[in-house]
Amino acid sequence: MALNLIMLGPPGAGKGTQAERFAAAKGIPKISTGDILREAVHTGTELGRRAKAIMERGELVSDEIVIGIVRERLDRDDVKAGFILDGFPRTVPQAKALDAIMAGRDPLIVLNIDVAHDVLVRRLTTRLICQDCGTNALVEDAAAGAGSRCRKCGGPMVQRADDNAAVVLERLKTYQRDTKPLVEFYGARPTYRSVNGAQAPDTVTAELEAAVAALGAMSKGAASGARA
Ligand code: AMP
Repeated sequence: MALNLIMLGPPGAGKGTQAERFAAAKGIPKISTGDILREAVHTGTELGRRAKAIMERGELVSDEIVIGIVRERLDRDDVKAGFILDGFPRTVPQAKALDAIMAGRDPLIVLNIDVAHDVLVRRLTTRLICQDCGTNALVEDAAAGAGSRCRKCGGPMVQRADDNAAVVLERLKTYQRDTKPLVEFYGARPTYRSVNGAQAPDTVTAELEAAVAALGAMSKGAASGARA
């Protein structure tokens, strides 16, 4: 069965970090719409030109654009064994479009990472990412400050253009208004799980892995039950 995961949660919850760990552990691609858009801005494509100002204000790129990106990405062969989506869906229309894309595929597992507002503001305004490969600094690395190097590729660690205090507050407002309703949208599904993201990253990873393993065991049980 393919491991089709989505990582929900506010900016700064640790979605990217956790998605990256899952992707590495399970050998499935991590698909981050934020990374795809930042790359487009960086290389100056038409998509990047359309997205740049919107991202700098902490607002959302249009549903039409991001749904197109994800539809095309989930059409590729490397998602056959599964994928982990990070930062998508972010609105109810995006979630509905994803359900349509997923028709006939193995079910989505929805992992939500829950973190309080004040913790998010602190994390976002102090975090650094690698300018070359986009890797986030671990919380403890960030203490080294700007000028440190990426632990993966050695690139320069910088603050994201949208991680300054004003834009962070706007992104959190956008989350509350547009994305938080997804907790309601997915919450009643049997494949929805939420974990406390204020814990140490390793603890969050362990809880997410346990949740996915339990869901996998449940669906195997259901499949063998159906055969009996
Ligand atoms: P992220 O790296 O996920 O925090 O995304 C950075 C920015 O990219 C967001 O603040 C949005 O402007 C844009 N973005 C990323 N994913 C989406 C999405 N699913 N829908 C709309 N905008 C998005």
